[in-house]
Amino acid sequence: MSTERLKILEHAPMGRDAWLLRMERPQWNWQAGQLISLCGADPLDQRDYTIASGEQDETLDVIYRHIPHGAVTPHLKAQKCGDIIPVQGPYGRFTLRNPEHPVIFCATGTGISPCRAFMRSYPNLSLTLLHGVRYPEDLYFREEMDAITYLPFCSQEAFQGKTGRLTEALRQLTLPQDAAYYLCGANEMIYEAEEILIERGVNKIDIFHEPYYYRAYDELETTPTNT
Ligand SMILES: Cc1cc2nc3c(=O)[nH]c(=O)nc-3n(C[C@H](O)[C@H](O)[C@H](O)COP(=O)(O)OP(=O)(O)OC[C@H]3O[C@@H](n4cnc5c(N)ncnc54)[C@H](O)[C@@H]3O)c2cc1C
Repeated sequence: MSTERLKILEHAPMGRDAWLLRMERPQWNWQAGQLISLCGADPLDQRDYTIASGEQDETLDVIYRHIPHGAVTPHLKAQKCGDIIPVQGPYGRFTLRNPEHPVIFCATGTGISPCRAFMRSYPNLSLTLLHGVRYPEDLYFREEMDAITYLPFCSQEAFQGKTGRLTEALRQLTLPQDAAYYLCGANEMIYEAEEILIERGVNKIDIFHEPYYYRAYDELETTPTNT
């Protein structure tokens, strides 16, 4: 793992309260699904972020949700294009075990990032993404999903005439032979999805998790900060 100071190339709002932070590519290589660490105004405040760009991409992208009372994301939000920020990485083991096998990826919110890295790094991967968000605007990267089986779920507002939760759909989904299951985002979704998969006969060793946060903050009626 190394630390580099990287220039911000793009910093754009996404959905109700998330941001795409695009940085120049560092000297190191990463594996799809790996993490970087970014810090707040106090360099001792360090947080993990999954790299959302592919292994061959020319930029290092992350998406982060702005948590107004958080220690790090308000500081990130204040950064501008051209600013230089310290980035530590890469690390983490939420990586693709076998690109020959189908992947069922369950993500909530910004938990879509490792899935995007998988898609961009392995264009031939047989990939099904179940993405759960609260509002349709938060279906990040929707326009990039044509090449995969994309199943979006919005819990608070109808999208294409429906509301729903990804865990309900997971109970009905046809599960391919030899699939690997990647679960990323809110802890509660991860516990529930794992329970469903095990009930449905999936072997625990084929399930991989990357928990980001507890849903407590999600349950608060938050005001969008990108409007
Ligand atoms: C392995 C790993 C990878 C991660 N990757 C990402 C990523 O790619 N993008 C990303 O946005 N976050 C990611 N996170 C969460 C991130 O590390 C920070 O916790 C988050 O950005 C909040 O940081 P903060 O210092 O602003 O707020 P904090 O002071 O750390 O947190 C304030 C509160 O917000 C809650 N919270 C944190 N993140 C979220 C969220 N996304 N939605 C709802 N509530 C939340 C926390 O549980 C806490 O209660 C990841 C976490 C882990 C453990």
